[in-house]
Amino acid sequence: MTDTYTRLVRSAPGGMLAKQLGLPRPSKLLRRGDRPEPVLGPVVVLGASAAADALARRLLDEGADVRRRFEDLRSVGTVVIVADELTAPGDLGPLVLPLAGAMRSLLPGARVVTISRPATGEEPARDAARGGVEGFVRSLAHEMRGGATANGILVADGVGPDAPGVVGALRFLLSARSAFITGQFLTVTSDAGSATADLAQPLAGRTALVTGAARGIGAAIARTLSADGARLVVLDVPGAGTELSRLANELRAVPIQLDVTSEGAGERLVSFLREHGLLLDIVVLNAGITRDKLFANMTPDRWDPVLGVNITSQITLSEALLEAGDALGAHPRFVSLASTSGIAGNRGQTNYAASKAGVMAFVDALAGRLEASGGTANAVAPGFIETEMTAKMPALTREVARRVNSLAQGGRPVDVAEAIAFLASDEAGGVQGQTLRVCGQNMVGK
Ligand code: NAD
Repeated sequence: MTDTYTRLVRSAPGGMLAKQLGLPRPSKLLRRGDRPEPVLGPVVVLGASAAADALARRLLDEGADVRRRFEDLRSVGTVVIVADELTAPGDLGPLVLPLAGAMRSLLPGARVVTISRPATGEEPARDAARGGVEGFVRSLAHEMRGGATANGILVADGVGPDAPGVVGALRFLLSARSAFITGQFLTVTSDAGSATADLAQPLAGRTALVTGAARGIGAAIARTLSADGARLVVLDVPGAGTELSRLANELRAVPIQLDVTSEGAGERLVSFLREHGLLLDIVVLNAGITRDKLFANMTPDRWDPVLGVNITSQITLSEALLEAGDALGAHPRFVSLASTSGIAGNRGQTNYAASKAGVMAFVDALAGRLEASGGTANAVAPGFIETEMTAKMPALTREVARRVNSLAQGGRPVDVAEAIAFLASDEAGGVQGQTLRVCGQNMVGK
């Protein structure tokens, strides 16, 4: 999976040459299997609020080696900055500057996470401080080395810092499961959700549908949700039937061959679920395609299928599932695949970016519809992920695209899958209508 350039610069002579030439030297990212401990120690919790004290105690109770100052620590695995009581920008310096002297002590794969409140547009000085946290974290992420990351959790006013969503988001961002996420914020908007009973199998007892599951990111999502305990329904086009049944055998999943853009696809899915006696707790709308062309050469045969698969099918499938009344579990979790192209735009991708920006607006609206029932809808926006889709890019464009992020490498399908597993978990009940980027903080579109 490691690309040729990365293999070269990780060798001793290649690494020296890259250093001399000032070329990017991507670090090995520590993922679930590489770093089993949930929190990398030692952990330093900064902040003097009651929430900081409570969090330090909680981490201690969970077995972490917790400190409240850097003192003479020679290495640091995790830093949590609790900034829930900021009143003016002047409060920021005393809180974050102790970390400056410890930056060179951060271990490979270290985590820095801030916990703060979002600006509300009500109090100028307080909002300036709150907004400042975002600028700080996004810049810090650019400066992290050795596969270390910096992210933040924004906790809406009125939501306790110990709400399930905050605990869950912190657990996820501190773990090795968020290896390719940096410079990002997760907002917890409510106290909804509940603590995960079984951390080893957080999705035990759930049934999950993954569309476009035969390969790439979809197959990784199915494998990750299955490893987390969910029962899988895997969907793909009839043309991908062989790969789909291989995956279904591997995961003991239920396969369904269906083109999500075909007439009545939603109703056929609902009938299939009824026939098999299945209720979906998790719906991952992953099927997607690209048909890149400069807009000057754009034609309906390139525009329409992209919009059809990437967004219209998400709307028709979710409407059919919601309208059926007997297709979904009590608190359904919808997670859609967006893209950083939908955020930043990308040359040659007017059709794709329109579809993916549509996905982000769609989940926001769907979240509103689901909230009363305790359901959620969110999206993930992958940056450059090493799959067959990106393998089709011209070689030079591909090489540039995989380097222009803070981690200087492409992500893996499993990185996207891990973010989806978090958003599908009980703990993420307070995370609504958001798009979480899984992109190594990439600086342009895909
Ligand atoms: P992929 O091409 O490797 O896999 C896509 C899967 O979707 C395939 O198995 C395909 O058969 C299936 N599919 C396509 N049209 C379908 C249809 N009409 N009905 C049912 N299934 C259909 O792509 P991937 O790289 O794994 O991408 C998965 C998702 O992630 C897509 O939504 C894509 O836009 C998004 N994404 C990927 C990247 C990346 O870098 N690879 C970046 C951002 C977003």
